[in-house]
Amino acid sequence: MDETLKNTLLWRGRNASQVMDADEAAAADGYCRGYIDFLNAAKTERETVRQAVSLAEAAGFVPWESFGKLRGIKSGDKLCLNQRGKALILFVAGKRPLEEGLSIAAAHVDSPRLDLKLRPLYEETGAAFFDTHYYGEIKAYQWTGIPLALHGHVIRADGRAIDVCIGEDQDDPVLFIADLLPHLSKKQMKRRGADLIHADDLDIIAGLRSCPGESEAGAVKLNILRILYEKYGITEADLISAELSAVPAFPARDLGLDRSMVGGYGQDDRVCVYAALSALFSLGEVPSHSICVILADKEETGSDGMTGMRSRFFENSIGAIAEAAGENPREALHNSLCISADVNAAYYHLYADVLDPRGDARLNQGMVLFRYWGHGGKEHTNNAEAETTAALRKILDDAGVLWQTAEGGRVDAEDSGTLSRFLANLDIPTIDVGVPLLSMHSPFEAASKTDIYMARRGFAAFFAR
Ligand code: MN
Ligand code: MN
Repeated sequence: MDETLKNTLLWRGRNASQVMDADEAAAADGYCRGYIDFLNAAKTERETVRQAVSLAEAAGFVPWESFGKLRGIKSGDKLCLNQRGKALILFVAGKRPLEEGLSIAAAHVDSPRLDLKLRPLYEETGAAFFDTHYYGEIKAYQWTGIPLALHGHVIRADGRAIDVCIGEDQDDPVLFIADLLPHLSKKQMKRRGADLIHADDLDIIAGLRSCPGESEAGAVKLNILRILYEKYGITEADLISAELSAVPAFPARDLGLDRSMVGGYGQDDRVCVYAALSALFSLGEVPSHSICVILADKEETGSDGMTGMRSRFFENSIGAIAEAAGENPREALHNSLCISADVNAAYYHLYADVLDPRGDARLNQGMVLFRYWGHGGKEHTNNAEAETTAALRKILDDAGVLWQTAEGGRVDAEDSGTLSRFLANLDIPTIDVGVPLLSMHSPFEAASKTDIYMARRGFAAFFAR
């Protein structure tokens, strides 16, 4: 058959070496240096929102509160709506009326971690411990035997908010959860994987030394409280009104002898957060359609709650913006196009029994486009329409973005979800996009620099539509 016709008939996934020259590979590397810095500065949802806000302000975005409700919105205005420090909406007013639709991109800022319980601190056999309750889906055994840092936010009895961060500075101590030595693990190793380490046994060892001048039982716990009090002025009661989480203490960094990947904690979904932000902040001119970037919290626990995607905060914010522009928010959403951005399982030959060898995303083959997830006959999934899929496909192809499709595992193997259905439920044409990831939800996840960079280019093309 004629080669041209053959290439027209077949759709073949391509990889980076077929489409990227040395200059573009260098651009991907440079882009990922900024991404690694972002990952290291943003290990919790609050830290991610804080980073996003400071980048947005540097890019000329104005906080909604100081924008003023009476002022009409005009083309080129850039607004930042901070949802209680844990979720964020960034808005750029385009040339067209809102009612002609927005370009909406959503990603989530929360990642799996170990939250401290409300009364976490206890003493046992001469050591002090923090009791934890895991957040998001984890394999508990992966969180033992690694250095952990304590990040969070405490509201003291006097009402003052205190940010806590211990374990990130080279001179800081780190925390740790003990595993059992192999020599005594015969019985443990016979347990089912899910029971290897029981989730309620993910207790963090906090210290061994007694409070000076104290020798009674409880002196070690008291000493930990003394240290926290001296550093942050917080007490045991203040821990009740705190959001303190243990996260991996090691930094994100280049991965692979060829430096082709980024390894690090929390890439689900900060890889998409960073892609959306960096594409938004590098917009050359006022876009045709208004742009809305949503950074949502609580995705890993089902998107419920005030700062999750099921909350009214997004509708309320769009309502407020539309009101300031004198337009109908429902009409605006109905005519919008939305990409819901999240990571997807990268195909890996050693786990071929649950992954789809023909359907799943491959590392280094670009940004991922997917329409549903694989469980219970596409239950709880957006299942993007052909029309929405076609619209995005055209945007990516016209911009020369390297992209691929994904199934998210073999049929019925996968049980997960993304933000997309909550957006589609608001009558917004929505499709899933993202980046393939290895070791998703583990303390150290891996993604290809090509795919990370192509996601950024994909977002840029989408915003420029
Ligand atoms: Mn995710
Ligand atoms: Mn996740």
